[in-house]
Order: sequence, then C-alpha cells, then structure tokens
Amino acid sequence: MLMQKLQQERLVCAISAVSAAELMLEMTVRYCKERTAFGRPISKFQHTRFEIVEIAAEVRVGRTFLDKLIVDYMEGRSVVMDVSMAKYRITDMASRVADRCLQLFGGYGYCDECPISRAWRDIRVTRIFAGANEIMKGIVARFMCL
Ligand SMILES: Cc1cc2nc3c(=O)[nH]c(=O)nc-3n(C[C@H](O)[C@H](O)[C@H](O)COP(=O)(O)OP(=O)(O)OC[C@H]3O[C@@H](n4cnc5c(N)ncnc54)[C@H](O)[C@@H]3O)c2cc1C
Repeated sequence: MLMQKLQQERLVCAISAVSAAELMLEMTVRYCKERTAFGRPISKFQHTRFEIVEIAAEVRVGRTFLDKLIVDYMEGRSVVMDVSMAKYRITDMASRVADRCLQLFGGYGYCDECPISRAWRDIRVTRIFAGANEIMKGIVARFMCL
C-alpha cells in the first residue's frame, strides 16, 4: 500500500514543482518587460530573450511529460518508473528555472521582499522530500536492471 501511495505523493510533488516553475516564468516575464536598463526594457536584450525562451521550453517539456503521466496514473497503469523519473527530472528543472529567473531579477531577486527569492528557496526542498532525487534514480536504475 505504501509503495502505491508513494507514487501519488511523488506525482503531486512533480505537479507542484512544474506549477511553481510556470509561476516563476510568468513573474519573470512580467518583470523583464517592466524593468529598464540602458534605456529599454531588459526583455529587449537578446540574452534575456533567449534565457526566457529556454526556460519556457524546459517548463513546457516538463508539463507535457507530466500531463501524460497523470493520464497513465488515472487509468491505473504501472507508473513507478515514470513517476520516479518525473519526480527527479521536474524538481531539478524547477530548481534550475528558479535560479535562472532569480538571475534575471538582478539584485532585487536576492532581496527577501522579492517573490522570486522566496520561490528560489522554497523549490529547493522538492529535490529532497517525497524521496530524495538520488533515491528516484536508484529506483529507475533497478527498473532498467542496472
Ligand atoms: C519540509 C519537509 C517535509 C517533509 N515531510 C515529510 C512527511 O510529511 N512525511 C514523511 O514521512 N517525511 C517527510 N519528510 C522527510 C523526507 O521524506 C526526507 O527528508 C527525505 O526522504 C530524505 O531523507 P533524509 O532527510 O533522512 O536524508 P538522508 O536519507 O539522510 O539523505 C542524505 C543524503 O544522502 C543521500 N542518500 C541517502 N540514501 C541514498 C542512497 N541509497 N543512494 C544515494 N544517495 C542516498 C540523499 O539523496 C541525500 O542527498 C519531509 C522533509 C522535509 C525537508
């Protein structure tokens, strides 16, 4: 029963991580359009645009993988390996997203009153709880008979 319910917990962990990544992206896009430097919004700098596009693509890939996994889980398929992959992959992705978004906020991103600062700290635990990401890789390795 525990092994079965753990899949649900890990799936929920991945869902909250991808949702957090989507929110961080939204906050960052808004900020980059508002914040000006050298006479124009920082969203107009090529590096900023490319960063945002890469973050958006990472988030979209995570969400697509997860949406398929939710359907598999709801239909009662065996999802242990895919859930383990999703838990580690999506929480790692969301942590990278938090770091890249914080960088785009500059010094303000480091301040406690900035929501991205709080998001950066909060996302960190998702790689530890619901089974540490190293444990997830161990499960996948067993499924691959390694
Ligand atoms: C905010 C928060 C809320 C939590 N809520 C709950 C809860 O509601 N219910 C609950 O039961 N638990 C909860 N936990 C506990 C959580 O599940 C554990 O913290 C997590 O499973 C990691 O275990 P640990 O802290 O004992 O770390 P350890 O097992 O001591 O791990 C330390 C390090 O060693 C690595 N490691 C350990 N074993 C291996 C291995 N076999 N192979 C490779 N690396 C390994 C880990 O990946 C990690 O990097 C919560 C934890 C936090 C931080």
